[in-house]
Amino acid sequence: MKKGKLIVISGPSGVGKSTIRDRLLEENDNLWYSISMTTRAPREGEEHGVHYFFVTEEEFLKSISKHELIEYMEVYKGTYYGTPKKEIDKRLNKGINVLLEIDVDGAMNVKNIYKDAMLIFITPPSLEELEKRLNLRNTNSKEDIKERLIKARYEIDMSNNYDFVVTNDDLETCVKEINNYIKLKN
Ligand code: 5GP
Repeated sequence: MKKGKLIVISGPSGVGKSTIRDRLLEENDNLWYSISMTTRAPREGEEHGVHYFFVTEEEFLKSISKHELIEYMEVYKGTYYGTPKKEIDKRLNKGINVLLEIDVDGAMNVKNIYKDAMLIFITPPSLEELEKRLNLRNTNSKEDIKERLIKARYEIDMSNNYDFVVTNDDLETCVKEINNYIKLKN
């Protein structure tokens, strides 16, 4: 049986990744989203097992020591994020495409393990626009936004390691473009 494809999307915080991810899942029957594990606190409306597996640092460290994660990162100071391994290979072997939404360093680690992974970077029209979106979101402190913007510069620099770079200026155009790339791989 033909194996599923591993598709990784990354992009700076506030670029619209979760909206795009939800649209991709709605529009692709054979696409399964791998829910990450994190030690960050849930934002309003976020649910355990839907948006993330929200765990304590102790639980996270236990998963690392049991080799249950493909990759993990301290994305922001003191906050860990990681990709659980078990379900991914199971789906890929069944021919199901798997979607990961992870940071740029995590994506590079995944590419080292899964050479066929398709890496898609979502970029904002500009850093000014990104800052505006982060402020509008109203879920992060000023300090946190500053840290996310510093990281955004680094992430955009890393985007030349990706297979495709898509600008999220207009959501519909962006989703359509990514859908075309996903289909390319099928
Ligand atoms: P947020 O806190 O805004 O949900 O996510 C912060 C960052 O962590 C985003 O760049 C997101 O892509 C990244 N991220 C989420 N899950 C994972 C993961 O499992 N591994 C890695 N390396 N990064 C992740």
